[in-house]
Amino acid sequence: MSKLDKRLCPCGSNIIYKKCCKPLHKGLYARNALSLMRSRYSAYALKEINYIIATIHPDNKQYQEHKQKWKSELREYCNSVSFDGLKIIEFVDGKKEAIVEFVAIIDAKEYQERSLFKKEKRWLYYGIE
Ligand SMILES: [Zn+2]
Repeated sequence: MSKLDKRLCPCGSNIIYKKCCKPLHKGLYARNALSLMRSRYSAYALKEINYIIATIHPDNKQYQEHKQKWKSELREYCNSVSFDGLKIIEFVDGKKEAIVEFVAIIDAKEYQERSLFKKEKRWLYYGIE
């Protein structure tokens, strides 16, 4: 196992990365919106740019048609801040829509958000509720 595989997953699960978000970053679909939310946070922390893009709903205002430009913007953002932790406040599950409220710690500052997720072929981040 690589060093990264053995370290605790950045999503705050207290599980090693290999057994937590890595399978999702490598192609497995998240079983629910909470798992997707966690894996998107750890994707930012680990610069899994393709995963960030693959799990955002096309109706989200961040969505860009020009993928190369979007990727470089995301990479620049991920390189410029530190992802210091994630706390889940609430998870409201549903068949086609779900809500996750969380506090993301970025550059030691807390950002609280209530996010909406929608299930198409897979769970996707739709936007702020
Ligand atoms: Zn994780």
